[in-house]
Amino acid sequence: MPASAQPTNPLPTAGLADAPLRKALNDSDNAIVMSNRERLVVYVNEGFSRLFGFESHEVLGRNVSHVLLGPRSDPGLLEQIRGHLSATGSFHVETLLYSRTGQPRWVSMMINASDEASGGPGGSITILTDITLTKMHEVLQKRVLEGLVNELPLSGLMALLCNEVQRIAPEVTASVLAVDGQGRLHPLAAPGLPDAIAHAIDGRPIGPRTGSCGTAAFRRAPVLASDIATDPLWTEDDRALYLAHGVRACWSSPIFDPQGQVAGTLAFHYREPRQPDALHERLVDMCLHLCSLAMERNATRQRLHQLAFFDALTGLPNRSLFHDSAESRLAHLQATQRPGAVLFIDLDRFKQVNDTQGHAAGDTVLCEVARRLSLALQAHDLIGRLAADEFVLMLPGCDTERAVQVARDMLEAVAAPMCIEGQAHVCHASIGIAMFPADGKDIDTLLRHADQAMYHAKSDHRHSLQLFSPEMNRDAQERVALERALRQALADRRLGLHYQPQVLSSSPGTLHGVEALCRWHHADWGMVPPSQFIPVAEEAGLIHELTLWLLDEACRQLAAWRSAGLGVPCVAVNLSGRSFHQPEFAQQICDTLARHGLRTGDVLLEITERVMMDARPVTRMNIDTLHSRGFKLSLDDFGTGYSSLSYLHRLPISELKLDMAFVQDLTTSPTARALTVSVLSIAHSLGMAVVAEGVETAGQQQWLQAHGCPVMQGYLFGKPMPPDEIEAWLCAQAPQRR
Ligand code: C2E
Ligand code: MG
Ligand code: MG
Repeated sequence: MPASAQPTNPLPTAGLADAPLRKALNDSDNAIVMSNRERLVVYVNEGFSRLFGFESHEVLGRNVSHVLLGPRSDPGLLEQIRGHLSATGSFHVETLLYSRTGQPRWVSMMINASDEASGGPGGSITILTDITLTKMHEVLQKRVLEGLVNELPLSGLMALLCNEVQRIAPEVTASVLAVDGQGRLHPLAAPGLPDAIAHAIDGRPIGPRTGSCGTAAFRRAPVLASDIATDPLWTEDDRALYLAHGVRACWSSPIFDPQGQVAGTLAFHYREPRQPDALHERLVDMCLHLCSLAMERNATRQRLHQLAFFDALTGLPNRSLFHDSAESRLAHLQATQRPGAVLFIDLDRFKQVNDTQGHAAGDTVLCEVARRLSLALQAHDLIGRLAADEFVLMLPGCDTERAVQVARDMLEAVAAPMCIEGQAHVCHASIGIAMFPADGKDIDTLLRHADQAMYHAKSDHRHSLQLFSPEMNRDAQERVALERALRQALADRRLGLHYQPQVLSSSPGTLHGVEALCRWHHADWGMVPPSQFIPVAEEAGLIHELTLWLLDEACRQLAAWRSAGLGVPCVAVNLSGRSFHQPEFAQQICDTLARHGLRTGDVLLEITERVMMDARPVTRMNIDTLHSRGFKLSLDDFGTGYSSLSYLHRLPISELKLDMAFVQDLTTSPTARALTVSVLSIAHSLGMAVVAEGVETAGQQQWLQAHGCPVMQGYLFGKPMPPDEIEAWLCAQAPQRR
């Protein structure tokens, strides 16, 4: 060691030897180091000892860089310092240095070249301010926030946080565990812990004596095991496991979510029995905050994912998720040359449940069906809910035979009675099956074909299954063509109305009224019957427009007949149940009549039993409004639907139309006769008129007349006719009336 490097007594310069100044320097929180031209330490204050743990005699005479820049410090820093000092005489940096015991210290380091300090050029004074806490916070926060911004997965973020903690405090091994909804622990990140420990923890329930982490989550408070070997909260197995891997102490703190629930735990592990120090406490404070932020962000992301890809009611994958999953399953089937099946399941008459028992009951049915379908699935099968009562399954590796068997099992599972609002309810389904690759190579085609097969199952006899066939595809295409043509016809007003007379039984030449029936003549297809296009109009959402149009047309025609002096007492129009879902429907009817100068008694509104059973408030509101304005309601096709007499008193019905199925069986079936007699008598006692539909023979007419049916409608009296023909018919009847 050269002479100039001999340890000099602290404060080599005379002025600094003053006692007050010395005291002031020693009291300073800053560490002060002076070095001579050989860069050997000639003075350190007590602040230096406090910050770095070196006694002054341990550093005096040593190279300042060796003292301050430990082996883990930034290697380029020394070069930088030298460069700046020789160029400008000063240098400022914030950097990480290490204490005597290897503890990291973030410092703000100010170095000034000082001739005076060393008695010659080349010396320096270094003032170091401890910024560990601020810096630690800043660095941790910055890294974790960067990770959040870069959409790192939660486990990646937590691993980053643990690694950062371990860099700041190498004596710590950090781990983050998540607590799931069932109160079980799952390691999110434990980069410094042996895998055996992470495996052992996974799935563990929290509890009052479940090691530091499980207990901390359970108590909602930090738990310190300063010596695992003797800690009472640890089981013997865990104790042995941790000690075998050299983990001797563990300090765990709960991580809370913004709702105050324990979302996880953050643990510091030590390789010797010990307590956390002040730095660890600060670190944990900071990390808990960041963990909570990251977990909350993750939970939000999961909620968004759930919302975007799962049906909120049943929790099943929605169309979009099903579609994507099925697509990748199909690619795999294609590659391995295996078959697969797509099953399209639609509940029968589900709308009725909604309409008659309300939406809550409908929701319960859907959830129960979803549960039953899911139970019947195997591990690789997919399920999804596409729309209200439409479910879909994809069965990879399944041949036609098994697909049919699965569909049968599903039909049976769905049909088992369920309890809805305290009442037993039986729900049926119809299933269509499309096979991969025969019926389609992509999921869209398979879904479309399975849907078409389902449609056939439904139109056959419901509660059945159908395999797709190419003819169905043609049917579906025809339906689409029909819908397109109907849309156009409606836009071009190329639909027409025919009128069928309704006559008094007592005097068949006397008109009770006429029923307006819609007619569509298509240039290529000829007459399309309403039984074909009305359901298409309903499905395609065109029915309300059609109803309003035909109502307007019927009113216009009646007004025209009136002004021509033709005695048509009233016109009956058929209203679709869907129109009653439009809040403004009643008002639209009133407006239409007003436009043509008609009164409410001039138009009879025919509704179906479906409308009568519809529990929706909007439907009731429309009916009540119509009733209060003086309209009369006629119940069409009575005896074919619910035929629930007990419902009759619920609505202001003034007329029943006995379905032609009854009328046509009158002469052959005693049951039809018995039923007709009771309907006539009930209607009579409720003050309702009865119109018998589809009267074709004199026998039917006589029987009805004899049993007191007041009004009849049928080919016997007149078919539905275009306006000019009905006018001729009316004129022809006139002499009879006289
Ligand atoms: P609906 O309202 O029960 O009409 C009576 C149906 O029975 C009419 O069939 C009529 O032509 C037919 N009919 C009448 N007398 C006899 C008979 O003696 N023998 C036989 N075999 N049939 C007879 P159409 O016109 O084919 O209508 C069928 C159904 O389509 C109607 O049943 C009605 O539910 C619906 N519909 C027709 N026009 C309209 C409309 O403008 N709007 C709505 N929403 N539905 C309509
Ligand atoms: Mg009708
Ligand atoms: Mg009818």
